[in-house]
Amino acid sequence: MKCFYDLHIHSALSPCAEKDMTPQNIVAMARLKGLGAIAVTDHQSSANCAAVMEASRDLAGPVVIPGLEIESSEEIHLLCLLPGLHEAQQMQRVVRAALPTRLNRPDIFGTQLLLDRHDRITGEETCLLLQACSLDCQTLALQVRNLGGVLIPAHVDRDAYSMLQTLGAIPADFPTAWLEFTSPDAARDCLGRHPALAAYRPLYNSDAHRLGDIAEARFCLDLPDSAGFGGAGCRHAILQALQPC
Ligand SMILES: [Zn+2]
Ligand SMILES: [Zn+2]
Repeated sequence: MKCFYDLHIHSALSPCAEKDMTPQNIVAMARLKGLGAIAVTDHQSSANCAAVMEASRDLAGPVVIPGLEIESSEEIHLLCLLPGLHEAQQMQRVVRAALPTRLNRPDIFGTQLLLDRHDRITGEETCLLLQACSLDCQTLALQVRNLGGVLIPAHVDRDAYSMLQTLGAIPADFPTAWLEFTSPDAARDCLGRHPALAAYRPLYNSDAHRLGDIAEARFCLDLPDSAGFGGAGCRHAILQALQPC
């Protein structure tokens, strides 16, 4: 069973995302694009995941994997995907406890909107989410694994916040079988310069901060037929497929 995915999407909780990245809009756009699975991955927070999951149930949308995009102490972005809401909330607590208590300046960084399933604003996150936490990549990987999730180095082909750029390589002991690339072209280019990356499997996500940037149904994961579309079975099968080994 082929499942078209986009597993790196920011909601309006990320200060750098547009305000119309609301639960219903994200789900409607993902449906329009024909995606079978999406992940909501705001910077350092999973607080809007429940609303997007509920909106997707209301609108018969794609399966929604709760997650967050974590910035480690090395200033590396990591795509964190978790099996359920409970685990996503637990991981958020871990990250929150490791975040400096610096308040957001909406006039400089943008607003950090908390939303419900009907796109109503329920509040604003006051702690600045665009800052590194004090946990390193390996510590984060261990925490995520203990929760049954996966931690995948994000946009490794980019210059900023990429594990490849920051460390000069993907450490052999970092537990991942997958690397996220911006596109197949970017992956090819990257592979030309770093042949050792051929050992990893590529994941192509949009990292959408605007509705129009949510991916077309172009990249898919091969899942067992028993996974079914939508629901917990599909979520579980995706997490299984992305495990380090
Ligand atoms: Zn990033
Ligand atoms: Zn991102």
